Amino acid sequence: MTRTRSFRTFMRAPRSWLSLGLMAGLLAGKTGWAEPVALPPPPTAVAIRNLFDPWKAPVPPRHLVDNLYYVGAAGVGSYLITTPEGHILIDTGFAETTPLILRGVEQLGFKPADIKFILSSHAHIDHIGGHAQMKKLTGAQVIASAADAVVMESGGEKDFITWPREMMLYAPVKVDRIIGDGEQVRLGTTTLTAHLTPGHTRGATTWTMEVKDGGKSYHVVFFSSATINAGTRLLGNVRYPGIVDDLASSFARLKELPCDIFFAPHGGQFAMADKFVRLDRGEGVAALVDPAGWAKLLAGAEQVYRDQLAQERKPVAK
Ligand code: ZN
Repeated sequence: MTRTRSFRTFMRAPRSWLSLGLMAGLLAGKTGWAEPVALPPPPTAVAIRNLFDPWKAPVPPRHLVDNLYYVGAAGVGSYLITTPEGHILIDTGFAETTPLILRGVEQLGFKPADIKFILSSHAHIDHIGGHAQMKKLTGAQVIASAADAVVMESGGEKDFITWPREMMLYAPVKVDRIIGDGEQVRLGTTTLTAHLTPGHTRGATTWTMEVKDGGKSYHVVFFSSATINAGTRLLGNVRYPGIVDDLASSFARLKELPCDIFFAPHGGQFAMADKFVRLDRGEGVAALVDPAGWAKLLAGAEQVYRDQLAQERKPVAK
């Protein structure tokens, strides 16, 4: 929607037509190569603030299934996995949501000091902005993929995203352990496996584990995200030359993961509101089992990728 609107607005402006026509004419005449199609620009700082602020609102912490709990905010997820040997936290949200997570952990009857490992879906301010503070307060080790670790240790400076820096930077955090593709984090009775699914960030990581409920085992996926942020060009992206291939292989890999239950960095990506209402009604694990929703999420994200690629490949009309 936004893309189409922005593109139309751009195409309606006489000066855009003139410059596009001039450029296309010059280039086509000389090289036969077309001017790249216009894409929507990155959002402004104000638009980003309007996007981020509602995500920070509190929601009650809650049990999900087995040893898995939701301790995140309204729009940015954080997941607590408890074991007798200590706990694992996936994503810390923004710096401002750290107190909310800590309070949630305590309300559920656990101790923040027992968090041993902090993992992440991907290195953006809304998912790892609280890492530095959380690490300081809990003494936990931060585990991340090599590519995301570089960005996290730079406080977001080394991110390829084109969004205004003042909205995207955060407290840098030292990564204690680099996790490779297929490697595992083990604690107590729980094993989490890392699947590198780059594209949204260079080090975006999807985590999988198994849970048990009523004598049955379920495959759980914590999705990394595979969204293409506004302002990110796929073809000829000098900040991230491998983005096209990375996304293609990530979609292929994600589709192969066994998945009964999935969670995501943002509640909207896994129908959190509906599923939590169903949990409240006492539906138990059935409220969370949703392989069709997972397939739909991936198909939708891949379609957006294909559409943008097709649009970028389209020669501009002369
Ligand atoms: Zn992100």
